Amino acid sequence: MAKSPYKPYTPKPEQMALVPEMSGNTVNGLGETEFRQPTHVYWSEPKNIPHGGLQKFFFEQNPDNPAIVEARANRDELTAAAVLPVSGPPLQQPAQQWSQQLADYAGTIELELFGITAFNPDWAFQGVELDYKWVIVIGVAHDYEKIKTAPEDIAGAEVIRQYGRAKKASKDVATWIRNRGWDSFANTGPMAGTMVMIPAAIECGFGELGKHGSIINKEYGSSFRLSCVLTNVPLIPTPRQSYDVDDFCSRCRVCENACPPGAIGPEKATVRGEEKWYVDFDKCIPFFNENYGCSICISICPWSIPDRGPRIVEQLLRRKEKLNSLVEE
Ligand code: SF4
Ligand code: SF4
Repeated sequence: MAKSPYKPYTPKPEQMALVPEMSGNTVNGLGETEFRQPTHVYWSEPKNIPHGGLQKFFFEQNPDNPAIVEARANRDELTAAAVLPVSGPPLQQPAQQWSQQLADYAGTIELELFGITAFNPDWAFQGVELDYKWVIVIGVAHDYEKIKTAPEDIAGAEVIRQYGRAKKASKDVATWIRNRGWDSFANTGPMAGTMVMIPAAIECGFGELGKHGSIINKEYGSSFRLSCVLTNVPLIPTPRQSYDVDDFCSRCRVCENACPPGAIGPEKATVRGEEKWYVDFDKCIPFFNENYGCSICISICPWSIPDRGPRIVEQLLRRKEKLNSLVEE
């Protein structure tokens, strides 16, 4: 494997001076064996979070980079765009019809992944009340040629551009619902907003959690961004999908080896009562902040290479069959 040009990594002293006393891993609930709702560690109002100084530092890096400036201006325009108010009496029709019409509409707007799941209040950040029954999850894919340049500015700008597309798609869906007389709420990144979206995306069939802490999808690997829409329109959930990502990740070390600050470990961890892959926040953030949001781990993941995912799934299936036949012999 080629040596990483980003290793060894030493954070800038001016950034380290901003590191708060409280570990971001503590905020995230690393090591906690009981369930609790998540709390904001980043992507929130800086004055309300211990790592607000570090978050500000991120946004102050490379303020004149043309690719970043342009991508942010475009995303900010989409952030400011309003979702139209609810209009007319609420349309009454069966869940099957709503889901079909929604899927048909999703096929006409710019997005790559679309799914539906029942809203689980466990996903809401502490102190946030969300009175909705359903989550419509949206995924928008990065341009692989751009994201594979991570952690350079082209990749950073691509991530910002996709956050803009994710915002636009969720606002379009939210407006579509409101035009039919029902309330809806578009939850978009990068600011963390009201709920964690990864568990909802896993539940509606986008894929499984990889060792790098992001979802692995069969078609797009980890090369996509999320947004979602909450509503009470009656809907039918889309099923979870599993392709043995855990098995693959337990034998793959690509992201572990590639992460310059060594934030990705070989074992799962207990986080708020759940055993799962977890990225060390305190190790990741300094490199992330100084390198356009990094993205090395999601871009280097083999599943993110175009057309590779379906082939990996076939390989995993063959491996499973072989192991099963050995057990039967
Ligand atoms: S790079 Fe390998 S170990 Fe890391 S998430 Fe992707 S498949 Fe899993
Ligand atoms: S985003 Fe964080 S975890 Fe991923 S490679 Fe970069 S520093 Fe490591």
